[in-house]
This record gives sequence, C-alpha cells and structure tokens, in this order.
Amino acid sequence: MNNNQGEVVKVSGPLVVARGLAGARMYEMVRVGEMRLFGEIIEIRGGDCSIQVYEETEGIGPGQPVFRTGEALSVELGPGLIRSIYDGVQRPLNDLNAKFGDFIVRGAESPALSRETQWTFEPAAKTGDKVASGDLLGTVQESKLVVHKIMVPAGVEGKITRIGPVTGNVDTRVAVIETANGPVDVTMVQRWPVRVGRPVKRKLPPTVPMTTGQRVIDMFFPMTQGGTACVPGPFGSGKTVVQHQLAKWANAQIIVYVGCGERGNEMTDVLMEFPELKDPDSGEPLMERTVLIANTSNMPVAAREASVFTGITIAEYFRDMGYSVALMADSTSRWAEAMREMSGRLEEMPGEEGYPAYLGSRIASFYERAGNVLCLGSDDRAGSLSLIGAVSPPGGDFSEPVVQATLRVVKVFWGLDDKLAFARHFPAINWLTSYSLYQEAVDKYANEHLDKGWQETRQRAMGILQREADLDELVRLVGMDALPVDDRLLMQAAKMIREDFLHQNAFDDRDTYTSLPKQFRLLNLILHFYDEARPALAQGVSLSALQGLDVLEDVARAKLIPEDNLNEFDRLKERITQAVAALPR
Ligand code: ADP
Repeated sequence: MNNNQGEVVKVSGPLVVARGLAGARMYEMVRVGEMRLFGEIIEIRGGDCSIQVYEETEGIGPGQPVFRTGEALSVELGPGLIRSIYDGVQRPLNDLNAKFGDFIVRGAESPALSRETQWTFEPAAKTGDKVASGDLLGTVQESKLVVHKIMVPAGVEGKITRIGPVTGNVDTRVAVIETANGPVDVTMVQRWPVRVGRPVKRKLPPTVPMTTGQRVIDMFFPMTQGGTACVPGPFGSGKTVVQHQLAKWANAQIIVYVGCGERGNEMTDVLMEFPELKDPDSGEPLMERTVLIANTSNMPVAAREASVFTGITIAEYFRDMGYSVALMADSTSRWAEAMREMSGRLEEMPGEEGYPAYLGSRIASFYERAGNVLCLGSDDRAGSLSLIGAVSPPGGDFSEPVVQATLRVVKVFWGLDDKLAFARHFPAINWLTSYSLYQEAVDKYANEHLDKGWQETRQRAMGILQREADLDELVRLVGMDALPVDDRLLMQAAKMIREDFLHQNAFDDRDTYTSLPKQFRLLNLILHFYDEARPALAQGVSLSALQGLDVLEDVARAKLIPEDNLNEFDRLKERITQAVAALPR
C-alpha cells in the first residue's frame, strides 16, 4: 500500500478512523471508500486519522481504502461564484441536481465553478508591470451587478510578461508573471483552504455604518461595515425575516448566505425564497450579487461544520476585491450541534452541555474573520466583511453555551423576544436587552455626514423606553390611573416610540425600508410631541386632550411618508406645536 492510501479501521456515523495514511496532515481532504466520499482529517493520534465524512457513510466498513488528496479542505474562487447555490463543501447543487436528481449521489463530483461558462477577461494591467499578491490583473463582468476582479494569487510576485483580453472558461490563462522561480500562469480561478483566513494588509477600525433600513437596528443597535452581530431568538421570533431583510437592504455589495436548516424543508424555503428576492436598487434579482450555501437535509450534520468556513472564505475573496460583503449564517446553533456530535464521536472531554471545550474558540475563529480591511494590492483599496449569525437556542434560553460563546466575540446583539413576537411586535428585537458596541462610531459618522444630534436623540428615546419598563412594573401593581400624570405622558411617548417607530412591517412596501435621515426625523417627531406636551401638561392642559390630538394620527402614519418628501416631517412638527398651543389651559 502506498503512502497516499490507507484503510478504514472503524466507522461511527460520520466519523471514520483510518490507518496507514503516512504523512497526512490535519484538515487534509481525503476520499473514503470505493465510493470516494468526501472527508476531512480532524484528528491524528499515533498512526490513526479520524476523518469527518461529509456524506452518509452507510456501506463503508473496515478494510476499505482511504485516499489522500494532499490538499486541505479548499474552495475554488473565480467567476461563477455569484448566483451559485452550493452545499457545505462547495458542490454546486443546481448542477448536481441536474446530473443526479434531487438526491445527490454519494461521492458525486462536479466542479464548483463551471468549466463550460465562457467569461471575457478585460486586462487592467499591462505587459512589463511589476505585480505582487492582490494586485489587479483585470476584470470579468460576472453578473449584471458584479464586476469580478482577477487578482494576483497569494505568494506570486514578479513582472507581467503576457496579458491581454481573452474569452474562455475559468481555466483560461489570462496572464503570465515572471517570478524569481520562473514563469507562473495565472488563470481566472484560484484555490484557498477554508480554515485559513485570506491575508490582508491590515485591519481598519469600523467607521461606516452598515445601514439596514430597519429602524430598531440602525437607530438603536447599529452595525458597521466589517462588524459582527448575532441574532438569537426562539423559533418563530423572526430570525429568518431579519436575515432576509439584511440581505436585501444592507448597504453591502455582495451577500453570502449560509443556511444550516434543521429540517430539510427549512432549507428548501431558503432555496425557494432567495431567488425570488429583488435587489432594491437595481430591481434585478438579489441572486445577481449573492452566493448561497445550503446544507441540504440529505447531507449529514458534519457538512454544516465545513459550510460556515466555505462561506466565509468565499466572502473574504470578494472583500479582497475591495467590496463590502455581508455574510449571514442561519443558524449557527446547527453548526455548533454538528461540532458537538463530532466531538462526542471522537470521545473528547465534553464541556458545557456536551459541547466541546473548543466551542468558544471555534466560534471566535469564525467571527474574527470579519473586518474592515486594507486589501493586499498596490492600489490601497479597502474592503469589508460583516458577519451576522443567527442563533437558535433550545427553548429560547440565552444563557446556553452557543449564545454565550457568540456574545463573547460579537459586538452587536439583537435579542429576539418571543413575547414581542407573540404580541406581533416585529421586528421582535428586545430594546431593553439588545446592545451595539458600534453606537459611538455610527453617531460620529451620522453627525458628520447626516444630521447633528444622533446620540442625544437615541439616548433620550432609549431613556423613555427604559423608564416605561420601570413604570410598567408599577402599573401592574397599582394600575395606570394611580400614576402621576407626567408619568402617564411618558408612557404615551414610549408607546409612540414602540408603535410608530420601532414596529416595522417587513412585508409592507412602504415600511420595509427606512433611510437614516428619515429614521432620525421620525424619532425626533415623536420626541418633539413629548417636548411640547410636557410644559403644556404643567400649565394645566389635560392629558386626555393631548392624547386626543388629531395630529397624532398623522404621527402614527409618518413611517409611511415617502423618502423623497422628508420636508413633511418639518410640517408635522409645526402642526404639533400649533395644536398643543391651541389646547385650553
Ligand atoms: P424564525 O426564523 O425565528 O423561526 P421567522 O423569521 O420565520 O422566525 O419569523 C416568523 C414569522 O414572524 C414570519 O413568518 C412573519 O409572519 C413574522 N415576522 C417576523 N418578522 C417580521 C417583520 N419584521 N414584519 C412582519 N412580520 C414579521
């Protein structure tokens, strides 16, 4: 038996132990059995390699061969990624479905990037140019919305000796670079190991908001481009709707969506729904700037573990082109469960609730790949990769290990609340428990580029909501009527913030997206009412007269004011001032 081949000694579900794979390394890809199932070495002990197999292992048994590939689990990067739907190890689902039907034949191989599609490469560099890793060689119009940039692969440095316009598949040579070790042919495709972050020049601090058009997020718990966020919530609390809204409305140029559904049909929903979504700016299908990774139900849980790394590597590649990229993973709990299952089979010492002790570091190794960066390449382009992970803790319990490990590394927490969801308050993001560590950066940006006073507006509104929560306790004990009248006015203002600002219907065309300037005006409008009503109340105007003002109906509808008519907010403010002044005191 040669070094590149070993044999199976034990099979336990998706875990196969093989012997005789001399020289094999951690995270090397192997092919298992005569069927050549996909696997990855996840532990080496003595001469035994434990292999995580990404396909059903039925029929695999001791004595069957295991083949080394010599390569770490890697993805193909090049034109054709956009619009693709992949499984967790980057096999193109559409392609495989076409070839093999709904149930992918085990060991089935299909290149991640089509070798049939023809691309036209337009050079951006010329013969004689000195280039190094990350420099732009040229572009390919990949989809209606994405110009794909062909970059000098990592580790290649030298002088271009050939380059020119060319049309062909991804394997077509687009340039020749004369390096210290001889000429290197550059094609439109490169490979990268998924567990290794792609290099950048350096990380930059997050400064630009990742706007989402979702008022509770942008105003109260904002995200930045290159930031990290998590959305934990029990079943039915709106995680998927939040993720879809972000995919649609976030100011990111490229979307990578990793779906790890629990049940097969959840994933089918994503596969059906995503291609239907439209890009709001261009009206084109959202898929024109999206890569979808779907863990289908007929692949074992182990594949979920690989899928988040497959997704993030593809996302980093687009970031390296200088794009703003957002990756959504729904849900990372399924991924953690896969880790737990493999760890159990490896008989590792279990940590909290059976999760492996390295749960936290594995989760961190994923989120650490987010960031705002200066990309490799001499043109000093910047790119960003924002990560948003949904977490679905059993029973909605946020104290469980996956939520806790995630909270230790992410900077934004949008906590979904089943009580709010039950009351049909959507998005059901709990404003009392959620937080964002990017508030300061976003305030600064908004003050400089939009309107002055973001921080003050947000803090005042949040103060009112927090006071409402305290008063709620009291109201439950003694009833609303026992409250002093100024507290009752505050309760009114809080109700308006909740219903007229925070509540946002994702399925209403006019409400689904709100720009930052409009969010600011809407919230200020509500605060303006409060500011006018308070002194009036002190002067003897009755609370019921204030609550009964007609103009409040227009405030309630102000969220639907068109984006091109923001002056309407000034008119409404003026009407509030006049209406309050006209009340008898
Ligand atoms: P989860 O992924 O947490 O199980 P979903 O995202 O599927 O929950 O949301 C469950 C339901 O809640 C949706 O089908 C929808 O009816 C409602 N919902 C959630 N968010 C919103 C929203 N922003 N606007 C309107 N309805 C919403």
